Amino acid sequence: MKHFEAELPAGYREAFTIDAANKKTGVTLNVAAAVIMVAVMIPFILIIRPGNILEGFSFSRYLITFGTLLVYLVLHELVHGAAYKLLTRQKLTFGFTATVAYCGVPNIYVYRRASMIALLAPFCVFTVVFGLAVALLQNPWDKTFCAAVLAIHLGGCIGDLYDTWLYLSRFRDPATLMRDTGPKQTFYVKD
Ligand SMILES: [Zn+2]
Repeated sequence: MKHFEAELPAGYREAFTIDAANKKTGVTLNVAAAVIMVAVMIPFILIIRPGNILEGFSFSRYLITFGTLLVYLVLHELVHGAAYKLLTRQKLTFGFTATVAYCGVPNIYVYRRASMIALLAPFCVFTVVFGLAVALLQNPWDKTFCAAVLAIHLGGCIGDLYDTWLYLSRFRDPATLMRDTGPKQTFYVKD
């Protein structure tokens, strides 16, 4: 099965663009991400009940959480990159803007199936990793910090999930192509 086209085939037209570098889109995505984070954290805090927030304060815990988030941010993009590389063997691009970190494969047009795999790879991998950490750790504060990392991960996947939702709702034709430059994804459909 073909995963991509080097050139946009004849008979295709641009159907939709989402550009996270666009100020309005960037802000909207970040607000949606924050809503997801809060929505995930509230039940965790209610279930885990870590107790007095000041008692649980330890500088090393915050430092570890912050370090984990930085490493996660890089790994999230690398997992997108690994999926794109395995599926297309093409040149990747990585970077970040004020509002997003990104990985793209800017020179080609990727078919729906391969595109969805690359989009969802970090979501699947890290939801399992952080979910297991929350489930397996015993100390309520460690659990809570991992839940915070999980919540930030789920919120941070908002762009990937939005693209996936577009594939599931508007662009269900397997012939749909996507050009992903990193911050910007453009959907192309066959007329
Ligand atoms: Zn992503």
